[in-house]
Amino acid sequence: MPLLCFDAIADGGLLPGRLPPKRQAPYFRKTNGMPGVDFNAVQTLVPMAKVLDLIGLVAYKVSGNQLHGPCPVHKSQSRRSRSFSVHLARGVCKCHKCGFAGNQIQLWGKLKGMTVYDAAVDLCEQAGVQVPWIERW
Ligand SMILES: [Zn+2]
Repeated sequence: MPLLCFDAIADGGLLPGRLPPKRQAPYFRKTNGMPGVDFNAVQTLVPMAKVLDLIGLVAYKVSGNQLHGPCPVHKSQSRRSRSFSVHLARGVCKCHKCGFAGNQIQLWGKLKGMTVYDAAVDLCEQAGVQVPWIERW
């Protein structure tokens, strides 16, 4: 008996009509009725500079896109502290003392004690922009 490849099966075994139906993606199924938030869009809508403005961070040193100042996460005692560094263009921040690192949503969530989801929604409301919802199905 020769080795059969699928094309060789008689009677057009691989005609399009006979292909198994494309798998429905069960992973996209709505589970709890909560719409999603487009985090990337939030980062564009609410830039890091706006978040620092809302926090009320007073930078000790600014050089280009880099900004250094007291850390709002571990609440630096000194106004002259430079442990907290922010890159405005990249929208990321890092503290060299307490080790916090993240984007503006994570920073907001950390300060407010929220999940990133709640933080993203709250941040949009505080900044006065429309929350970029993702429709799920
Ligand atoms: Zn810190």
